[in-house]
Amino acid sequence: MKTILITGGAGYIGSHACVEFLNAGYDIVVLDNLCNSSPKSLERVRELTGLDFPFIQDDIRDRAALDALFRDHDIDAVIHFAGLKAVGESVEKPLLYYDNNIAGSVTLFEAMQAAGVRTIVFSSSATVYGDPASVPIREDFPVGGTTNPYGTSKLFIEKILQDVAIADPAWSIALLRYFNPVGAHKSGRIGEDPRGIPNNLMPYISQVAVGRREYLSVFGNDYPTPDGTGVRDYIHVVDLAQGHVKAVEKLAEGPGVRVWNLGTGRGYSVVEMAKAFEQASGRPVPYRFAPRRAGDIAQCWADPAKAERELGWKARRGLEEMCEDTWRWQSLNPNGYEP
Ligand code: NAD
Ligand code: UDP
Repeated sequence: MKTILITGGAGYIGSHACVEFLNAGYDIVVLDNLCNSSPKSLERVRELTGLDFPFIQDDIRDRAALDALFRDHDIDAVIHFAGLKAVGESVEKPLLYYDNNIAGSVTLFEAMQAAGVRTIVFSSSATVYGDPASVPIREDFPVGGTTNPYGTSKLFIEKILQDVAIADPAWSIALLRYFNPVGAHKSGRIGEDPRGIPNNLMPYISQVAVGRREYLSVFGNDYPTPDGTGVRDYIHVVDLAQGHVKAVEKLAEGPGVRVWNLGTGRGYSVVEMAKAFEQASGRPVPYRFAPRRAGDIAQCWADPAKAERELGWKARRGLEEMCEDTWRWQSLNPNGYEP
């Protein structure tokens, strides 16, 4: 494995993965249509690593563009981040999500097949487990019961890749089920830059701390959890990005479909997150309890033992570091990549 195509490489997780792949000695090619990202993230990846790479601004649904990309570059493996990810928007615009995520992925897989590239790491999500019967969640837990088109798109793409591997056992496929990615690169130069009002907890909290929003609405305080608020497994984005490098190394050992949870194995509640962020930032994070958000589950955290056993990968960065690094990014870039 030498040259890696990173779809969605200008995005939040993708930009951190670019840094980790470059630092690990890989060549990368980035494909992104910039529908949810800024090209500045890639400039900063170049600045952080001192390395250059081709960027193709195009859409994964554009088969001709993909064919040209595979013709022009000798790609060994694909890391497939490109996709839309806003749960609420997916409920309002299911066809957009199915077209972008599922049709887009199918087009990418077709182009890969035509080019003879059969190694892929796919960005899946813990959402494919639906509401798990118990925690921690192992990879052999049943999937399904997704509550929105975004989650369903992840479930379907996993299934499509499994079927592709049945038809052609030469494929090497990693389905990485992320828990809740947070944090930013230590430098504070790249990080999460959501457009509009953040849907996710951590960017919302950091915008409250920096003064862009007045208070955090805590969605539900009557869950069967220790303090009544939702519990999630927050994982530092750099740990997550490094998991992708490990997955590519593992896929080089041979074909097959492998599934790994990428999480830390411990959960924190919404209120614990707000408190930890206050500590790390030295800024108040006022919050108010609000009704539960439709489709949310009470608690969710990973059993990360399989990834540790098989990939030799383990999340190393704790909650304090997640909050400090988010805060550095947020305070140095109060408006994200915009000036
Ligand atoms: P992001 O929106 O920051 O990055 C996704 C990137 O893909 C963006 O740069 C966007 O412009 C690009 N993109 C979207 N559709 C495209 C298309 N049709 N063609 C080309 N580029 C396209 O999101 P992220 O948080 O970095 O997430 C990356 C991946 O990880 C996504 O697939 C997401 O569903 C998955 N994931 C994210 C989380 C999370 O909480 N952030 C959790 C689980 C899984
Ligand atoms: N949450 C919240 N207020 C917000 C955003 C999120 O209370 O403004 C809660 C949400 O209900 C869940 C947790 O924070 O319990 C994580 O939500 P997020 O959307 O970040 O990730 P999810 O686990 O839903 O993918």
